[in-house]
Amino acid sequence: MNNRQLFLSHLAQTTDFPLLIEIEKAEGIYMYGPNNERYIDLISGIGVSNVGHRHPRVIGAIKDQLDKYLHLMVYGEYVQTPQAKLAEALVHTLPDGLDNVYLVNSGSEAVEGALKLAKRYTNRREIISCINAYHGSSHGSLSVGGNEIFKRSYRPLLPGISHIAYGNENDLDLITEQSAAIIIETIQGEAGIRVADASYFKALRKRCNETGTLLIMDEIQAGFGRTGKFWAFEHFGIQPDILVCAKGMGGGMPIGAFISSKEIMGHFKSNPLLGHITTFGGHPVSAVASLATIQVLKEAQVVEQVEKKAALFRDLLVHDKIISIRNKGLMMAVQFESFEVLKPIIDKAISLGVVTDWFLFCDDSMRLAPPLIITEEQINEACTLILQAIDEA
Ligand code: PMP
Repeated sequence: MNNRQLFLSHLAQTTDFPLLIEIEKAEGIYMYGPNNERYIDLISGIGVSNVGHRHPRVIGAIKDQLDKYLHLMVYGEYVQTPQAKLAEALVHTLPDGLDNVYLVNSGSEAVEGALKLAKRYTNRREIISCINAYHGSSHGSLSVGGNEIFKRSYRPLLPGISHIAYGNENDLDLITEQSAAIIIETIQGEAGIRVADASYFKALRKRCNETGTLLIMDEIQAGFGRTGKFWAFEHFGIQPDILVCAKGMGGGMPIGAFISSKEIMGHFKSNPLLGHITTFGGHPVSAVASLATIQVLKEAQVVEQVEKKAALFRDLLVHDKIISIRNKGLMMAVQFESFEVLKPIIDKAISLGVVTDWFLFCDDSMRLAPPLIITEEQINEACTLILQAIDEA
């Protein structure tokens, strides 16, 4: 059997439309197939490879760590330099009040930790989330997801969850003194890139303060420079009580975090214990990769260039079949009439060497989430091929 047949027969399948591209190697914005076919990656593993594939700084840090140790102990027991240094670097990217970091393995786990922490801190049980939100695939994170089609097979889920419309100030009254937390994606990703305005976030912050409800912002997709600020909440002049991140954090390695104040996080430690326990969370190899990723984003001024690159995509992607483009920085959705129109365009683009896809809850729109290090020349090349794909599909 060839590799594609092995993939289809022995690996559990998760979608009716796997992209089915075989990749041997990846570097920068490019991925290469077994016969050296070259693909431009406009997905970044869904917002993971923000510094590109196999960034030399990330690879170097990983190699150094391999010579020291891999795993030592359940998170939080031994002093491990990679974790301590990463926490320090993360805190330096954040405002006061977000200075205590809990390292985990993934986005879903970060969401689980944040929800548990909010319950512990407030001693309340109800949680609010947004319609069309995506927060992960575990039972807790699925419970706060906002798309019923994805949830109904798994009920009963967590009790005490109610949903409000993202970006609608009229719904904020549903946040009450009973609410432990509201969890919200700063920019809704899988809904197809929806961006609320600053006045909404200010009203949300105010309502949380009035009711003693913790504001959890999910920047698993929007963080680490993706939107043109290091953290997406910086666009809106407010800050969360708990921030969750993952994906782009590891530069290609699995890691996530929920971040809060020392005061709030302190409620995890004392009786009863078992705030959150994770064997592999903050794995030292992932932690050094994450630290290197932060250094690259900062030193190469990657984030500062995101807006300009996004504007170039918008300028170049002009076509009768494109209905609209929604974006915050390089978190972009290009809307077509329907999935039936979009799917052949995506297939054609792949055959021309450009990889894009669509969104979980928005299948009429093409996802564009390139590595942030993409150059203007590469954007030109990618857009030319996308326009060709639209014409030829
Ligand atoms: N929250 C958001 C906003 C996400 O986009 C994702 C992943 N698509 C998650 C949570 C879940 O992250 P993970 O797949 O690492 O569990």
